[in-house]
Amino acid sequence: MTRGLLVCLSILLAVVTPRAQRGPAGQRLSMNTIAEQYVRLVLAVGQHDADYVDAFYGPAQWKADAERQKLPLSQIDADADRLIGQIPELSAADRRDSLIVLRREYLRRQLEALRARLRMLQGAKLTFDEESQALYDAVAPVHPESFFAATLAELARLLPGSGPLVERFDAYRQKFIIPPDRLTRVFDLAIAECRSRTLPHVRLPASETFTVEYVTNKSWSGYNWYQGNYRSLIQVNTDLPIYIDRAIDLACHEGYPGHHVYNALLEQRLVRDRGWVEFSVYALFSPQSLIAEGTANYGIEVAFPGDERIKFERDVLYPAAGLDVSQAAQYGRIQALTDRLAYAGNEAARKYLNGELDRAQTAAWLAKYAMTSPARAEQRTRFYDTYRSYVINYNLGKDLVKQFVESREGVSTRSERRWEEFVQLLASPRLPSGLR
Ligand SMILES: [Zn+2]
Repeated sequence: MTRGLLVCLSILLAVVTPRAQRGPAGQRLSMNTIAEQYVRLVLAVGQHDADYVDAFYGPAQWKADAERQKLPLSQIDADADRLIGQIPELSAADRRDSLIVLRREYLRRQLEALRARLRMLQGAKLTFDEESQALYDAVAPVHPESFFAATLAELARLLPGSGPLVERFDAYRQKFIIPPDRLTRVFDLAIAECRSRTLPHVRLPASETFTVEYVTNKSWSGYNWYQGNYRSLIQVNTDLPIYIDRAIDLACHEGYPGHHVYNALLEQRLVRDRGWVEFSVYALFSPQSLIAEGTANYGIEVAFPGDERIKFERDVLYPAAGLDVSQAAQYGRIQALTDRLAYAGNEAARKYLNGELDRAQTAAWLAKYAMTSPARAEQRTRFYDTYRSYVINYNLGKDLVKQFVESREGVSTRSERRWEEFVQLLASPRLPSGLR
């Protein structure tokens, strides 16, 4: 993002947002003042926690202030506590706008999550479920090992060879690796397709765009760094082989209609149209992440309903990657089965973070129930070290979003209604607990 554009946004925000005020406890502030204070507190936490601020494109001065002040954790906590008490009651006029109703509750809950993260930074030890409730406003269901048995048995029937299933799966998957020299071509095709499937349903700003970079030595496989001004930087980690199914996953999840679209809509409809400055910052360890990851994952099937994904992969991506198209249908079936093991990752993280399993035992558990190869299991446990209960946002988040969208009126009978409800969710400050 260029400096000139940042200045434009700063001016816009200065017009719509009153100057920071610090009233006594109990004093009611305007929601825009609460919002500015919230952004400043998130930036203050970012001074202590390098992963906390995922995106910020509000006034550069606020970031500079946070860096200069470097408020201690206890001060940030006291300020957040007081701010929660200063959130105004809804007026009768407010109640007529559902987004204003959502905004108030959302800010309160985001501030509570910020306080929970502060407790963790000060050394508090929460269980996996306590942490996910405090940070993400949700608790993942517990699945016993038997929950995965039927899926594993079905995979054992389909995968060639003998020996441990994880090894057979890994051997089988070798035929579906995108050769490194074809990666860019395959990803470009996947992104173009996801974009062309999304744009008819979402009015995006004409200037929206993103850049893709290939990186190494990360604990995640892809990341969208939203820059503001409708631009994203998408990074794809090439530490481990990239299988053909990851092209659509990443293009939809990070791009269209996933994170890039989500962030662009928040900027357009909430930050710019309404002047709600709190959406110019994204606190990673907060309820917002369940909505972000849940919509990014559910967006894949919104963009590619039914068997449209496998057809596109077979007809376009397999040839571009130089892979055997005759294998596409069977690989698609096996992928669909392994998707059912998604919750095994939560169980592994829960056991690991609760101290029931060490790193090696967690890798063994992942191999047995999630069919995760040793190299990938090592990457997974490093992800758990950094992001902890964040893992629930992907699978529980997807399921909650799917359930919410598909229970809305008319969605089951008209496909366009699904897009409408999905886009409306992307552009509204709904909390995870509000999806139930
Ligand atoms: Zn994501």
